[in-house]
Order: sequence, then structure tokens, then C-alpha cells
Amino acid sequence: MINLISDTVTKPTPGMLQAMLQAEVGDDVFGEDPTVNALEAKAAALFGKEAALFCPSGTMTNQIAIKVHTQPLDEVICDEYSHIYQYEVGGYAFNSGIGVNLIKGSNGKITAEQVAAAIKPVYDWLPISKLVVLENTCNKGGGSFYTLDEIRPIQEVCRERGLSLHLDGARLFNALVETGESTAAVGEVFDSISICLSKGLGAPVGSLLIGSSAFIRQARRVRKALGGGMRQAGFLAAAGIYALDHHVQRLKEDNERAKRLGQVLASQTYVDNVRPVQSNIVIFDLKAPWTAESYLEFLAERGINASAFGPQTVRFVTHLDVSEAMIDRVLEVIASV
Ligand SMILES: *Cc1c(COP(=O)(O)O)cnc(C)c1O
Repeated sequence: MINLISDTVTKPTPGMLQAMLQAEVGDDVFGEDPTVNALEAKAAALFGKEAALFCPSGTMTNQIAIKVHTQPLDEVICDEYSHIYQYEVGGYAFNSGIGVNLIKGSNGKITAEQVAAAIKPVYDWLPISKLVVLENTCNKGGGSFYTLDEIRPIQEVCRERGLSLHLDGARLFNALVETGESTAAVGEVFDSISICLSKGLGAPVGSLLIGSSAFIRQARRVRKALGGGMRQAGFLAAAGIYALDHHVQRLKEDNERAKRLGQVLASQTYVDNVRPVQSNIVIFDLKAPWTAESYLEFLAERGINASAFGPQTVRFVTHLDVSEAMIDRVLEVIASV
């Protein structure tokens, strides 16, 4: 089967498995796993920050960041498509006792003007706007991405009004290979950053939360409270180090392949529209009588798995385990409908 369901479905490559098998490990709850420590130091240095924390998932890194940046009765400002709002089970309310102030952005992206207008004045009867979360790339926005020039004015608003700025960078590197911007420059504009090793980077498990020493010290306590303190996690961290060393630049190929899929889909009469393809995600709407269900069945019968993103909306995601030959096969099938 050709699996376009998500970039989370990748299996470790032989090189990555070798690195995992050879990892030196210890008990990371005591801070004594040398491979976890090396991964955290590597991530912090990459973004020019003081510290980092290895966590089981991107949901956990985001939830920890929200918890550390806020107090109960505060609120987080984000786009209505945000992963923290859509796909984290309402964890911001459950874990942090805060509200959410949603902005209707453009393909998941919001502007400094929108953020400035959303920040609430301080009254006893209003939640306190404390945190802004940006997602880059934006999953539900069809893999859209921000450039730093778009983010800096948002950072300026946050700085002036005393809000923290967190990046949900689950697929950040899919954006950076397009913009050519550096991780150090990203580190300068955000107070905290979450990146996933388990998406396009191809590691089996794991995400990193990156920030100041004081922030990560607190984050480490919250991770333990959430049950995310892992013991000999160096086997997993080794996969993360390998991924950062070997799988970043190749994301460009995933982005290019997604663009090819988008182009061919756009010319099919059964496709109503394709969201602009900017990275490794292709989201498109079908024309009746096609439904996502019938279309996915058609694909599955021909060896291709993808996911529904609405009653008539389908999502394709390209990744490490989708080869050039597989893309050719998908192109053939989607043109044969
Ligand atoms: C996948 C993802 C996450 C984290 O997901 P986990 O499955 O918990 O690792 C966070 N934000 C975005 C935008 C994502 O796509």
C-alpha cells in the first residue's frame, strides 16, 4: 500500500535503527540519559536557546508550553484551525484551566493586526490574554507557512502587550526548507518552540520543547506531572538525533512531490478545488457525486491510502516512505478516475 494518510506513518530507516541500537542510555528522569541530554543540547543550540526537553508527543510539548506560559482564567489567542484547538482534546482547558480566543485567519495564518485586535483589555470579568500560538506549517491550513517577516510584527505586538509567543512547529522544517530561513532566526522571535521528530523527520516517537533555562526547568516539572517522564529514552532520542542530522534537507523532496500531486489534482474535472500547496500537505474538495468516502474507497482498491478531511474533502501527505515511483503511481491513479 502507498500510505498518504500522514507523515507520522514512517518506519525507522536502517541507518536510524542502527543509531537506536547503538545508543548509550541512562535514566532520564534523573537527567542521566546521555543520548537524551545530547538531543536536548543539540535542539537548544540549533535554535539559539538555552535548553530543550524531549517529550513523547507534540501534543505534550504544546500542552506543557501552554501550562508554563499561563495561569488559570487566562486565555490563548490562536487561529481557529490550530492543532492546539482542533486536535488536542481541549487540553488547554483540561490541563491549564484557560480559555481560547480564536481568530479567523487565512489558511491557518493570522496577522499582527488581528492579534492586536484580539487582545482583551484587563477587567475583572474578562480572561487575561496571555499567550499567542502560531502553527508553522499549518496542518488544517493545507500546509501553509509563515515567513519570519510575517511573524516579526506579531512578536512585536506580543512584546508590547506583555504576551508570550509559542510556536507549534510540528512541521517547521517543511517550511524552513522552502524559505531558507535559519533555525537561529526562528529562535529569536519565539519564547518557546515545539518541533516534532515523528512527522516528516521520520523518527518513530518524540517531540522537543525548546526555550530558556527557566522555562524548561518548569516544563520538566509539568512533563513529570503529565506522566511524560521517560526512563531509558535514549533509544528514542538517538532516532531524533539521526533525524535532525539526515532527514531535514530531504523534506524539500516531500514538498515538491506534494506540489506535483496538487497540480495534477487541480486539472481533474472531479476536483472542485485544491488548497494552495506550499509544503507536504495537499487538501482538496471533490465535486458531487464523489464523496471523501467513495473517493478513498476508489484509491484503496488501487493500493493507495489517504484520509478524509471533511465530507467531500481529502488530504494527502507526502513523507519519507513515499518514493518517486509511488508518486508516479498515485498520479496515474488520480488521472484515471
Ligand atoms: C502532529 C501535530 C502535533 C502533535 O501531534 P502528536 O501526534 O501529539 O505528536 C502538533 N501540532 C501540529 C500542527 C501537528 O500536525
